[in-house]
Amino acid sequence: MACAEAAKRAGATFLRGGAFKPRTSPYDFQGLKADGLKLLAAARAATGLKVVTEVLSTETVDLVAEYADLLQVGARNMQNFALLEALGEQRKPVLLKRGLSATLKEWLMAAEYIAARGNYNIILCERGIRTYETATRNTLDLAAVPVLHTMTHLPVVVDPSHGTGRRDTVLPMARAGVACGADGIIVEIHPQPEKALSDGPQSLTLPMFESLAEELKRVAVAIGRKF
Ligand code: PEP
Ligand code: MN
Repeated sequence: MACAEAAKRAGATFLRGGAFKPRTSPYDFQGLKADGLKLLAAARAATGLKVVTEVLSTETVDLVAEYADLLQVGARNMQNFALLEALGEQRKPVLLKRGLSATLKEWLMAAEYIAARGNYNIILCERGIRTYETATRNTLDLAAVPVLHTMTHLPVVVDPSHGTGRRDTVLPMARAGVACGADGIIVEIHPQPEKALSDGPQSLTLPMFESLAEELKRVAVAIGRKF
């Protein structure tokens, strides 16, 4: 709720939280599942923010769609074709994250699996790709944004949190995301990142998030856009 209120104050339009979490290790926190969805719905009721959350499996599409305004497909599921088809059959919009080592063409074909079943409301999310570099968690491919804008009409948002994995690097890459034409920015925040059950090292504190929002507004104005 503290995150939801901070997000709202800073001018966010969506609250993103993982109720079902795809973790690399099966021993890491897996999310609160259905209870987490209820918390997200309570945060929406309190703030008016729309809710985006990940759907992990075909079996849970109906349950997650009941609570979410926007359904996230995570990087690890970008080519889960059964899931993409199931999302094409329902009518909530989909946030499709780029696969860990997906080319733009593979990513757009994944989007096509959703569209081919009649759901055209798809947002793409650049969240970094796997390269030989280890200083950052992933390599945020910002060139993908203007290139995708020549290949598709779908909006493209940038996730500098997973894209870098480093709190100190989220702000400059979020600025760069706006500057290169992203249609939205997704960042992870936490009132006490050192206590986060997931992705603490890349989560901004709430005051950091508020100043990020102010900076992004200025970057948008500088390139003739509104934030
Ligand atoms: C997430 O969005 O919290 C997440 C797990 O990200 P990704 O699917 O991009 O790894
Ligand atoms: Mn995360």
